[in-house]
Amino acid sequence: MKRRDILKKAGVGAVGLGAAGLALKPRKASADKVYNWKMVTTWPPHFPVLGEAADFTAKWIEEMSGGRIKITVYGGGELVPALQVFDAVSSGTVEMGHGASYYWAGKHPATQFFAAVPFGLNAQGMNAWVVAGGGQALWDELYAKFNLKGFAAGNTGVQMGGWFNKEINTIDDLKGLKMRIPGLGGKVLAKAGGNAVLVAGGEIYTSLDRGVIDATEWVGPYHDSKMGFYKAAKYYYSPGWHEPGTTLECMVNKQKFDALPKDLQAIIETACYRSNMWSLCEFEAKNNQYLKELVEKHHVQLRQFPDAVLAQLKKYNNEVLEELAAHDALSKKICDAYLAFQKQYNEWNTISEERYAKLKHL
Ligand code: CA
Repeated sequence: MKRRDILKKAGVGAVGLGAAGLALKPRKASADKVYNWKMVTTWPPHFPVLGEAADFTAKWIEEMSGGRIKITVYGGGELVPALQVFDAVSSGTVEMGHGASYYWAGKHPATQFFAAVPFGLNAQGMNAWVVAGGGQALWDELYAKFNLKGFAAGNTGVQMGGWFNKEINTIDDLKGLKMRIPGLGGKVLAKAGGNAVLVAGGEIYTSLDRGVIDATEWVGPYHDSKMGFYKAAKYYYSPGWHEPGTTLECMVNKQKFDALPKDLQAIIETACYRSNMWSLCEFEAKNNQYLKELVEKHHVQLRQFPDAVLAQLKKYNNEVLEELAAHDALSKKICDAYLAFQKQYNEWNTISEERYAKLKHL
C-alpha cells in the first residue's frame, strides 16, 4: 500500500515533471537565444512623442524579454530613407519598423484604414476596432500580402485642422490653396479645389515661412509648438477632420515574427500596446498647456472650421472612400468593415461619450 502510494506520488510527480520538462525543453533552447534586431522608423531620430514611441517600444521589448531581444532603433534616413521603411521590413532587410500605415497608400490604398480616415474613428474608436472589433484580423490579412505583421503602437488623438494665413469661411476659401496635408485628407482637399502638397516633416516650416505652401497641418498643439509653425502662420484651425485619431504602427517582418517563441511574440505585442497608450496620454496630457501658450504668449488666432465647410468636406470624403473601395476586393472589404464598425460605434458613442461631454458645460 505504502509502496504503491509512493509510486503513485512518484508517478504523478514524474508525469508532472515530464510535462514541465517537455514544455521547458524548447523554451530553454530559445531562452538562450538573443535576437539582435533593427527597427527603422519614418521619424527623425528621437523625434518627440512619435520617435520616442519607437524608442520606448524597443526599450520595453528588451526589458520585458530580459534582454533576449535587443533592438537598435534608426531614425528616418539613418539606415534607410523614411519612406522605405515598409520595403525594408517587408523584404527582411530589417526586422521591425515604426511609422504610420497611411504612408504606404502607394503599396495598397487600404493601408490607410489602419492610420486615419477623415471623419472616421477617433483614438478610442480605433482602439476598439483594432483590438476588439475585427480590425486586427483585417490588418493581418492585408499585411500578410507583404510579409508583414502590424500592431497599433501609438495614437495622436484628434489632431488640429492646421495652420493658415487667411481665414477659412467658405468652401471656396480652399480653392487654389497649397496645403501640406497627406493621405485621404489631401484627396478631399483636392476635390474642394485645393492643392495637396507633400512636404517632408523637416521642410514644412521653411516651406510655410517662404510661402512655398500656403498652409499646413501637422498634429496638435504640443507637437506643432515644437515645430514652430506659429512663427509662420497666424490662424490655427480646429478640428482635425482629416485625422481624428491617427494610429501609429509598429510592423514586424512576418517570417521573423512567426519564428519567435510565443512569449517573445506576446512581449512585442504588449510593448506596442504600451506605446499606443503612452503616446496618446502624452498628447492628451500636454496639448492644452501648449495651446494656451500658443494663444497667450504667441498670439495665435484660434479658429474653427464653419459647419458648412465641414459638411461639404465630408461629402467629398464619401466620394474619396467610394473611389478607394473600388480599387480592389480587399479594399472594399476593409472599407465596408470600417464604416460598419464606425456606424455602430457612433450609435453607442452618441448616448455615452457625447451625452457625457455635454455635462462639462453644466
Ligand atoms: Ca497630421
